[in-house]
Amino acid sequence: MSFVGEPVIPPDQVRGKLSPGHALLTIGNRKMTAQTHLFRCLSDNFGVLVHDPASGATAAIDAPEAGPVETALRTTGWKLTDILVTHHHADHTGGVEELKARHKCRVTAPRNEASRIPAVDAIVSEGDTVKVGGLTAHVLETPGHTAGHIAYVFDKDRLAFVGDTLFSIGCGRVIEGTPEMMWTSLLKLRALPDDTQVYCGHEYTVANIRFALTIEPDNKDLQARAEEAKRQVAAGQATIPTTVGEEKRANVFLRADVPAVAAAVGLAGKPSAQVFAEVRARKNKF
Ligand code: ZN
Ligand code: FE
Repeated sequence: MSFVGEPVIPPDQVRGKLSPGHALLTIGNRKMTAQTHLFRCLSDNFGVLVHDPASGATAAIDAPEAGPVETALRTTGWKLTDILVTHHHADHTGGVEELKARHKCRVTAPRNEASRIPAVDAIVSEGDTVKVGGLTAHVLETPGHTAGHIAYVFDKDRLAFVGDTLFSIGCGRVIEGTPEMMWTSLLKLRALPDDTQVYCGHEYTVANIRFALTIEPDNKDLQARAEEAKRQVAAGQATIPTTVGEEKRANVFLRADVPAVAAAVGLAGKPSAQVFAEVRARKNKF
């Protein structure tokens, strides 16, 4: 029995448990109105549903492929009303057309790359709000990985869906933008409240930690995160969501303005965008 506004999911799960059979991950938090449901797609993508129990509305954040989204909908009993796309890459949009054809859901996409995303109904840019039933997200433009990449932030529910801009202990490759652009985007995400839960597009945490330790081997929070991630992976659990606060302390890509990080890459006293660019370049070669 559950009440409107109460999660149907046990509130004691902080990071998800992997259900047998369908690599399904479920997160609940009693304080939030919104409910989330995390699952795996393709080889290392995450899919996630955001649900408003009051209205019944449900959004998929990106749609890497249709099958796992359908499985997640069946498992939760939720009805797909929206797809919120973060960027145009195929591993985030591959399931959009099929899901829209079946569910007649509304597809929201970033203005600057809407022409490269199929079946778009609504285009959004910086500062716009998106309604999912009674839930409200605001749009942050976070270019760098792609030129028009956006994040969806449900401020009241302390949820941020950041696509391939920020990863747990990592960040996306700078493909269409410049390192300066990416650093500015990461600073926007870093400015969100520390208790904001962060959902990213990929399970890259363990590899990210291995790299981050080469720059900050003595970072205690990073060391703790390494232990936690090792346990989670061994237990078949996802390493996300993470939080803004946790990432500030342990994610070297959010720490390019920490003097010790600049010094570690031989750029003491240099502009933080330059330090970020160097850390990103080292990760590319790692
Ligand atoms: Zn991408
Ligand atoms: Fe991706």
